[in-house]
Amino acid sequence: MSRVAHVNGTYLPHRHARVSIDDRGYQFADAVYEVIAIRGDRLIDAERHLDRLDRSLRELRMASPMSRVALRAVMDEVIRRNMVSDGIIYLQLSRAVAPRDHPFPAKARTQLVMTARRSRPEPEAWAREGVRVITQPEIRWARCDIKSTALLPNVLAKQMARESGAFEAWFVDRDGMVTEGSSTNAWIVDESGQLITRPPSDAILNGVTRQAVVDLARGEQLRLVERPFSLDEARAAREAFLTSTTANVMPVTMIDGHKVGQGGVGEFTRKLRQRYVEANAVSA
Ligand code: PMP
Repeated sequence: MSRVAHVNGTYLPHRHARVSIDDRGYQFADAVYEVIAIRGDRLIDAERHLDRLDRSLRELRMASPMSRVALRAVMDEVIRRNMVSDGIIYLQLSRAVAPRDHPFPAKARTQLVMTARRSRPEPEAWAREGVRVITQPEIRWARCDIKSTALLPNVLAKQMARESGAFEAWFVDRDGMVTEGSSTNAWIVDESGQLITRPPSDAILNGVTRQAVVDLARGEQLRLVERPFSLDEARAAREAFLTSTTANVMPVTMIDGHKVGQGGVGEFTRKLRQRYVEANAVSA
C-alpha cells in the first residue's frame, strides 16, 4: 500500500507530495509541528497536542489554517487513508509561501502538511533494560517552549548520541543544569525518593507525555517536585528516565558512561511506565 500525504487540502501519494521552495518552513524554519501517537486506532492525548499546537501558532503569530474540528477531520482522513492503527501522525504548519524576505509576508496563508505512518513502540528490550544518554552543551534558542521545526541543535545532539551508541542526548546549560533531551523530557528520582523534572518554561518543550506523567505521579501520590536539576544530581540519582510521544516512559541506566543507581531499571520508573501503558492501552 502506498502512503498518502495531505498538502493544503489535497491528498497525494507520499512520493509525489511537494512543497514550494519559497515555503518559509524550508527557507527559515518558520514553521511548527506536532507528532501524535496512534495506538489501537486511537490518538493518544490528541487534545493536549492540539492545545500545544495552538500555543505554538499563537506565540509565532501564525494563523491556524482551519478550526480544530476541521483539523481533526483531516487527521482522521489521513490516518484512514494510510490505514494506520499503530503509528504516528505528523502535522507541519508553515507561515506561508512567499518570496524570500525575512519579515512576515503581508498575505500569509498558513501551509499545512500532514502525514501518517505505521510504527511500533520502541523495542521492549530498551524498556526492560534501559537506555543510555550522553550530554551535550545547550546551544538552542531561548524559546524552546515553541515546537518549531528549527531543530538543527537537536539534530546535531541526536547524531552525537547515535555515534556514541546512546539513545538520547540531554542538553546541559552553562550552569550545569539539565534542560531536556533532543526529543524527550528528562526526569530523575533522588536518593530520598523524590521525583524531579524541570517545570515548563521557555527552556524546554512542555512534553505532552511529560504532562501525562506529572498527572500520573500526582495520582499515585508520589513526591513530585518540578524544578531544574543539575547534571551532578542526575549522575547521583537513584533512577533516571525520559518521556516522549514515541518513547513513552523510557528508563535511563547510564549517563555519559556512568551508571545511574545500580545500573538497572528503578521501581519508580517501572511503575510510571506501567501506569502510562495501562492508561493509554499502549503496548509495553
Ligand atoms: N522535548 C523536545 C525537544 C521534543 O522534541 C519532544 C518531542 N516532541 C519532547 C520534549 C517530548 O514531547 P512529547 O511528550 O510531547 O512527545
